[in-house]
Amino acid sequence: MLDQAQRILKDVFGYDAFRGNQGAIIERVASGGDALVLMPTGGGKSLCYQVPALLREGLAVVVSPLIALMDDQVATLDELGVSAVALNSTLGPEEQRDIAERIRRNEIKMLYLAPERLVQPRMLAFLQRLDVALFAIDEAHCVSQWGHDFRPEYMQLGQLAELFPDVPRIALTATADKRTREEIVQRLHLENAERFLSSFDRPNIFYRIVPKEQPRKQLLGFLAERRGDAGIVYCMSRKKVDDLAAFLTEQGFPALPYHAGLPNDLRAYHQKRFLNEEGLIMVATIAFGMGIDKPNVRFVAHLDLPKSLEAYYQETGRAGRDGLPADAWMAYGLQDVIFLKQMLNNSEGDERHKRVEQHKLDAMLALCEETRCRRQSLLAYFDELLAQPCGHCDNCVDGVQTWDATEPARQALSAIYRSGQRYGVGHLVDILLGRDNDKVRGFGHQHLSVFGVGKALSEGEWRTLFRQLVARGLADVDLDGFGGLRLSDSCRPLLRGEVGLELRRDLKPQQVAKGQSKSPASQLVRSEERETWEALRALRRKLAEEHAVPPYVIFPDATLLEMLRSQPASLADMASVSGVGARKLERYGQAFLEVLQGGVDVAKSPTDLRHELITLARAGMTPAQIARQLDCSEKNVYAMLAEAIGQQQLSLDQALDLPEDLLGEIQEAFLDGEGELPPVAAVAEQFAGRVPEQVLYCVRAALQVEFEL
Ligand code: ADP
Ligand code: ZN
Repeated sequence: MLDQAQRILKDVFGYDAFRGNQGAIIERVASGGDALVLMPTGGGKSLCYQVPALLREGLAVVVSPLIALMDDQVATLDELGVSAVALNSTLGPEEQRDIAERIRRNEIKMLYLAPERLVQPRMLAFLQRLDVALFAIDEAHCVSQWGHDFRPEYMQLGQLAELFPDVPRIALTATADKRTREEIVQRLHLENAERFLSSFDRPNIFYRIVPKEQPRKQLLGFLAERRGDAGIVYCMSRKKVDDLAAFLTEQGFPALPYHAGLPNDLRAYHQKRFLNEEGLIMVATIAFGMGIDKPNVRFVAHLDLPKSLEAYYQETGRAGRDGLPADAWMAYGLQDVIFLKQMLNNSEGDERHKRVEQHKLDAMLALCEETRCRRQSLLAYFDELLAQPCGHCDNCVDGVQTWDATEPARQALSAIYRSGQRYGVGHLVDILLGRDNDKVRGFGHQHLSVFGVGKALSEGEWRTLFRQLVARGLADVDLDGFGGLRLSDSCRPLLRGEVGLELRRDLKPQQVAKGQSKSPASQLVRSEERETWEALRALRRKLAEEHAVPPYVIFPDATLLEMLRSQPASLADMASVSGVGARKLERYGQAFLEVLQGGVDVAKSPTDLRHELITLARAGMTPAQIARQLDCSEKNVYAMLAEAIGQQQLSLDQALDLPEDLLGEIQEAFLDGEGELPPVAAVAEQFAGRVPEQVLYCVRAALQVEFEL
């Protein structure tokens, strides 16, 4: 059996070996047994049911909660030469009948369905008359009422056990905790399922957490090493998302906003573009999440603190699904802590619930202030023991200095206490540093015994110290909403001199700037390889467009990278590249060989340049910025913009940012006469010195489209 599975793995999927538990899972399901699979994102869950589906007779039925995911899977299988379809509500009755007919004729191997579809009596009856190879239940944690992805329809999937007693069922999820696991078993009647637990470590992700100082500047520093990579930047509020997306675009990093306040169709459009185009940054609130299956997300950056390690793990986990190096980067500061603590205090819910949330936040804060390996600490929270420090996080790589903060911490706590437990960090630092300003005088705080006792530390060091005191729960944030600090019960032993305090030393800003941006992911492609790499990507993009699929469906980045490194010289060589199966070899092998041999120069073909231009213009870049980005003349950019407008790939708004009255004036000039639009030359003089001639071409092109002239 495993032999056969191995052959399918190589022939169809183009891979040489199973990863982790895949082999065992496939053997179990292919031989008719049930399975419960817990595997982290990117672990390779899909193969666990796709290979058995090909090994067994009959139709494999796959339940998946999201249409976008289904379409992606079907497109991927299609490219591999496996006949799969997704039945969803966007299909008309005609198409649905056609699919049913093809299923009856055994022409379809895999059927993807939403759960509510599957449990319709008619559908169940239809399937009962067929030979069903297996049921795969993806995202099985959706059955858990306590999880955040609960889908009531999933509850009804339990009846499959009874209706199809001889059909193997495999449930898969990337949610690790025990409670969810037991709920899946119970509700889906998987008592006889063999359980396959994988490590939840994501070894290809590099974790880094830096103290927040000037977040935008810090983010730009991080991005500078990652030009052209796709990534996600998470922020807390919608406004921040909008502002940051605009800012990044302005700075030459094409970015799109995503949050629940945007109209549905715009949100869907941004998501689609993120999947289909390369090198876009999605700036998002946590509304952007489930269903992001883009495998080559190279980084996830947090500009605000998530409220639990569960959320942090899940959000950072969207990076590097393809197994290639990826970065999880976060800037975190005292304001985050204050904000989240206040939110928690103001939230609804009973005391018990609040306590649970408080614990979760404390665990998140502990990771931020962690002095040992971040990965060890993160996995320990999920009950997984990593024997050695990972060597692949900031703490392991940079080393962490700690210092004895006992005395300064006592001073800080006394400053809080003696000033009446109601002032924010700024004022407390002023007191400690002995600053004689109006506010200090106004409250008479220059007479406090702690006034000026802290001159040995700098303002920055005091701020760090206060952040750490709050993060460790030694000081509390006031409930009133002004960010005042007060003492907490747990600081008493420290104040009484019974215990000491060892704290992490923040890196100096210049050290941070130097160290933070580099990581294996930022050096995925070396500079001497860049040109060939871009040429391979360009060919992939062209093929993807022709086939109307996302680029990674043609080949994942890992496959392109292997081509780049192993330089196959023949189709036979090409066949041994991981990810090149029989079908793709036949379809695309030759074309990629030619690029590798430098036969075709697709690197900056006109089509690519135009494609990139459209992406950048849609993202809101000005022509001057685009010219810089594409390294070509502004004149050229305008010419291409005019062409793109003419072909209705861009609106005038997207291409140019003209003042409204000026635009009106230009339009009038063109529309002055009867019939045909006059040539640009005819109106150019009127705008000489005010508007570059190239702009006129763009406006004219837009009018032509508008009036079909
Ligand atoms: P998951 O659903 O667990 O997040 P996927 O099934 O999407 O993960 O797989 C993640 C990536 O790993 C995909 O690009 C997939 O093709 C690749 N992959 C899966 N199994 C293997 C394997 N045995 N060898 C090489 N690549 C694999
Ligand atoms: Zn580590």
